[in-house]
Amino acid sequence: MTPTILPRDQHPISRRMLSENALKVLYRLNQAGFEAYLVGGCVRDSLLGQVPKDFDVATSATPEQVRNVFRNARLIGRRFRIVHVRFGREIIEVTTFRGGHDTEMAERHSQQSEEGLLLRDNVWGSVDEDALRRDFTVNALYYSVRDFAIHDWTGGLEDLEHRVLRLIGDPDLRYREDPVRMLRAVRFASKLDFTLAPETESPLADCAPLLLQIPSARLFEEVLKLFLSGYALSTYQGLRRYGLFAMLFPGTEESFAQLSWAEKMVEQALINTDERIRADKPVTPAFLYAALLWPATVAQTAQLIDEGIPPVPAAQQASQQVLNRQLQHTSIPKRFSLPMREIWDMQLMLPRRRGKRPYQTLTHQRFRAAYDFLLLRETAGEIASGLGLWWTRFQEASETQQREMVQKVEQGQDDIAVDDDAPESMPMPSRKPRRRRRRRTPRDGQE
Ligand code: ATP
Ligand code: MG
Repeated sequence: MTPTILPRDQHPISRRMLSENALKVLYRLNQAGFEAYLVGGCVRDSLLGQVPKDFDVATSATPEQVRNVFRNARLIGRRFRIVHVRFGREIIEVTTFRGGHDTEMAERHSQQSEEGLLLRDNVWGSVDEDALRRDFTVNALYYSVRDFAIHDWTGGLEDLEHRVLRLIGDPDLRYREDPVRMLRAVRFASKLDFTLAPETESPLADCAPLLLQIPSARLFEEVLKLFLSGYALSTYQGLRRYGLFAMLFPGTEESFAQLSWAEKMVEQALINTDERIRADKPVTPAFLYAALLWPATVAQTAQLIDEGIPPVPAAQQASQQVLNRQLQHTSIPKRFSLPMREIWDMQLMLPRRRGKRPYQTLTHQRFRAAYDFLLLRETAGEIASGLGLWWTRFQEASETQQREMVQKVEQGQDDIAVDDDAPESMPMPSRKPRRRRRRRTPRDGQE
């Protein structure tokens, strides 16, 4: 196969725009007698005038050969073996050229399920074969330091020019091999503001259920890329359009039909996330998941209450049930699901503003997230506004003013329409329901 070659004087990528370490990897591999190229997002983004997120290298060297060239190299992955070459904090991902699957050799190193899902892909090949194994044409542009040219075997340059995202090969087959490519299609189209080629777009709705075959841990990683990369809202809209969102968050999708404010809440959470990323503020998967799963939890709580379970245990059971169901689709590491549930639990504490309660709530380590979450619920229209503003004021108030605010609540002069009258004996939500009775200890009952 002969590639289209775009020489150095016809493209804008200069070595100054590229990672020094990535270039070092290319030169060293070349010196050792191997072919080596930059490929993927770094070439694509550089051509579009964007700053690449990371640098991927494709080479004719096998993982073992790469390791022999670099002391700072680690072999990782099984389904898809690659090498990480580390330079301080920067990691360059080095991938051996992948080949087709139609040889006898291939059968030993690749594995496919009956549905066509690629379980392993470690068949080595040549650079032109490698190009055909990649997902989209604009992700299969190769940059070499032998000629500083861009090498294109799949029409990626033309698609880049027309801002089209096009799957390489037969779309149906390629989605079957790896359904995550559907999520990548929507993510890149949103991030790059590209349109999907018609043949890339049309199988999406039918192929969406293939995502259910993907291990939940991989989908968790993918969800973070979908929603924490600065283009969450448009990515989400794309996922909804093709029925992909329902495969990731089925409970949330169902709640959209049950609760008038649910879609607004998810959209607003994603708008806020995008804004925070643009402003260089931290974003956490815990808050994101709290917002994405909250409507499902509220719907489930309502159903349990209908079945006769009292509100507080109903809320507890509902969060556990929603979480359990979600874990089958996208895993959530405990370090995120625990704070997520704390954000939820605190929603029951925020309306309580008598005695020492509000002071305790204010010092809770999840207060800030829980307060932001309360504002989100108000914006979405789940609950009337007012309580959020009370907490905004309470945080800014002097000690005297705070005392006055609490007094007003206690005297019933507070005009916020929230259910603040929950009897003081009502147990606070706790993650271990059985311990609830014993929580009325003197230390706990100081309010
Ligand atoms: P970014 O890093 O900006 O998210 P990227 O295009 O570099 O985008 P990576 O996930 O880093 O994406 O993958 C690097 C390259 O590897 C891709 O550009 C593509 O060529 C190839 N690739 C990644 N995932 C797949 C996949 N599931 N199927 C086929 N090729 C893939
Ligand atoms: Mg990349």
